Amino acid sequence: MNRRNYRRYHRNYHRYRYNRYYKLYQKVNALQRKRLADYSMRKITECTLFLVLGVCLLFLYQMLVFPRIDLEGSKVIEVEYQSKYKEPGFASSYFGENLSPMVKVKGKVDTSKIGEYPITYQVTYHGFSTTKTRIVKVVDSSYPEITFTTDDKKLYLCPDSKYLYDDYKAVDNYDGDITDKVKVTKNGEKLIYVVSDTFGNKTVVERDVFYKDILEPTLELDGGDVTTLAIGDTFTDSTYQVSDNCDKNIKVEVSGDVDTSKAGTYERVYTATDSSSNTAKKVQKVIVLEPSKQGVIYLTFDDGPRSGTTDIILNILKEENVKATFFVTNSGPDDLIKRAYDEGHAIGLHTASHDYSVVYASGDSYFNDLKLVSERVKRITGEESKLIRFPGGSSNTISRKYSPGIMSYLTQEVVKRGYRYYDWNIDSRDAEGGRFNADEITKFVTSKLSHDKVNMVLMHDIKVTTMEALRNIIRYGKENGYVFDKIGPYTDMVMQHVNN
Ligand code: ZN
Repeated sequence: MNRRNYRRYHRNYHRYRYNRYYKLYQKVNALQRKRLADYSMRKITECTLFLVLGVCLLFLYQMLVFPRIDLEGSKVIEVEYQSKYKEPGFASSYFGENLSPMVKVKGKVDTSKIGEYPITYQVTYHGFSTTKTRIVKVVDSSYPEITFTTDDKKLYLCPDSKYLYDDYKAVDNYDGDITDKVKVTKNGEKLIYVVSDTFGNKTVVERDVFYKDILEPTLELDGGDVTTLAIGDTFTDSTYQVSDNCDKNIKVEVSGDVDTSKAGTYERVYTATDSSSNTAKKVQKVIVLEPSKQGVIYLTFDDGPRSGTTDIILNILKEENVKATFFVTNSGPDDLIKRAYDEGHAIGLHTASHDYSVVYASGDSYFNDLKLVSERVKRITGEESKLIRFPGGSSNTISRKYSPGIMSYLTQEVVKRGYRYYDWNIDSRDAEGGRFNADEITKFVTSKLSHDKVNMVLMHDIKVTTMEALRNIIRYGKENGYVFDKIGPYTDMVMQHVNN
């Protein structure tokens, strides 16, 4: 073997040797690593088991030793500023034993101040205590409110006018009045109102703007809704008050004919028109009364109807072919009112209750009572009566006891409301507690009759004596050239002197 060959051989030999040991080393190494891995794995598993066991023991310990507290609702809750805070509740127990009454709750929530308020719940049982905490946040999440004195969706301005920014208001629950913080911007035909409160709660309101007058003028007649005249009186139009939101000069036109030479009801129509053609209308009724008929006898019967007297009186009137007037109340049967109306007599309004303390308690009280009897008559006859007889007459003084001055007010007010009232100038005295018999009653009436005046006779169809006197009164009248009539819609009023 020469030197060269030896070297080659030697090199190869070492290569071979090295390879052998290297492979061996690799084998041993792999084995060791596997062992190590297995060992680690075992240790990790052990540790985990211990940990789980530890936690379990801890949990068990807690469960066995410490009482429980469970909070109702969230651990963090929000309540609104200035609302009322209500404790959401809690429960405490130890192995089924209710400890809730033993829980001490500490901490207060002041909803009048924004902030965070911790509430602690603590319970101690056999020396072991448990504490839980809840955070209550008092927040302002409500939005400011923008309100308008006019329509909040549409704003109507007078043509060619300026917007005065004086028709809105902004109020916030926290900041109070923040009207001065409202920013108004114009976007085409819209106005946009924006305002934010201290906590950034932002309110945006949009309104459409129109330059157009949509409001009619205001028109009031000084003369009222009804005016009453006698034939031959001169009629003058009522004065009036007129105004408009946009225009200063408003035209008022008056139309409708009034003929003061003829009794009847007329209408004068007042029409106010502004420059945008909005109109307001008021109607005044003009009632022209007939001249009083001298020598005519108007037999009037108050306080009915009543079964047993009113029906007999109706029989007599029918037999004598005389028309009379019945001022009715709300008592008695409907069919007697119906019969009187059907047989051509006039039905007037006396009073529903005939209780002076009710009727004359006040103006409203009078008209409430009048409405009740008026509704009855309308229901029975189908016709609204405008004829009134005041209980006790317009001259009564008993009303002063309930309401001083009421007759002065009522005698004017009923006429303004389109009624006519009729007092009497001959009293049959049949209502004076049965003091007088039929002959005396007849005499009281016949002795006062006159051809030089209207004879308005007061009687009561609920009285037996009246019933008995009636035939003689009628006979006397006829024999002495008198004419009987009922009160008509335009009969001139007969008024006594007002004393209250
Ligand atoms: Zn009466």
